Amino acid sequence: MGIQVVDASLFSSLDPVALQGSACVACAAHVFPAQATCPMCAGTEVSVVALPTTGTVWSWTTQHHAPKPPFRTDEFAPFSIGYVDLGPVIVEGWLLGRIEWVIGEPVRLALAKAWTQDGEPVFTYGFESVA
Ligand SMILES: [Zn+2]
Repeated sequence: MGIQVVDASLFSSLDPVALQGSACVACAAHVFPAQATCPMCAGTEVSVVALPTTGTVWSWTTQHHAPKPPFRTDEFAPFSIGYVDLGPVIVEGWLLGRIEWVIGEPVRLALAKAWTQDGEPVFTYGFESVA
């Protein structure tokens, strides 16, 4: 039985987990999620790439209110959302495991349960502290 995820196109692999982005052949701009054209130079020659799985917290905030539909969760608890600098690109995602962060601290990519569907967990990605 495979790992259920919210959107398979976000991932280049699940075990080990890695995000799938695109890289522009003309200007080298990296984008996540992957796009068919480059948002920087409008180039149409892009390649699909696995993004680095470690980075640093670029910015973050903690939400103390439950998200409105279509977002869903099994049980609400305050959660952190951050921008993580992976090097070639900055990615938005959950910051996992706590609700206080420090800009610049190292994190790594991880799968995180988004919700339960038909008794099975559905995963998305997030970033956890390396410390
Ligand atoms: Zn480009």
